[in-house]
Amino acid sequence: MRDSSTLRVNETFFSVQGEGTLTGAATFFIRLDGCPLRCAWCDTPYALDGTAGAVTDVETLAAQAHGIPRVVITGGEPLAQDIRPLVAALDSGTHVTVETSGTIFADIPRVALFSVSPKVGSSGYKPKPVVLKKFCAAAKGRLQLKFVIGDARDLEETLACLLELDSELPHDTPIVLQPESGSAGTGAAYHEALRKLAESVLADSRWRRFDVRVLPQLHYLMWGGAAGR
Ligand code: SF4
Repeated sequence: MRDSSTLRVNETFFSVQGEGTLTGAATFFIRLDGCPLRCAWCDTPYALDGTAGAVTDVETLAAQAHGIPRVVITGGEPLAQDIRPLVAALDSGTHVTVETSGTIFADIPRVALFSVSPKVGSSGYKPKPVVLKKFCAAAKGRLQLKFVIGDARDLEETLACLLELDSELPHDTPIVLQPESGSAGTGAAYHEALRKLAESVLADSRWRRFDVRVLPQLHYLMWGGAAGR
């Protein structure tokens, strides 16, 4: 049993952002526990069932994050819990990113960046355009869409998702494409997957209208995706 000022937390750690437009930024991560999805290649399987970790007061979390310029609230699926009290408890100048799958909508004005990762093809799920359009409307200028690409079908479904959002997608929204690390492998194989992804995007003129970034997962390159990194 917990009240609205507590959250089920899987782990907290200080590391560098490994994904998206803020890659490399030193960041305090708060990983909440539990997710309604079960993506085939989920890289945080230890944070899905909502029974791991500990129920933690938001003031305790805010104290841990105190003085650190950037905080990421991630999961699991952070929007499966009410994170508003946590966001409100953080230092007023903190840059707050929320990493979400784009299946649950929440409008939290204090959040500086919604990093929304719609699931396609190889994940076993389809994007939810109704939810994504709400983020497009509410988080204009505070939004990036991040897609994990495991194969050619994933890339095609990603493009279809973006085209369905059409004019409702703010034109300056960064579209981040990253290889699915499990299938990409490590070392030279990962570099090859990254190169192939970049070349596929560059060769297809349908991508030119979008602000695309083909990026690796930095934490995967450095630490192999270990927990707490
Ligand atoms: S939405 Fe994220 S945390 Fe949930 S199963 Fe998919 S990859 Fe894992």
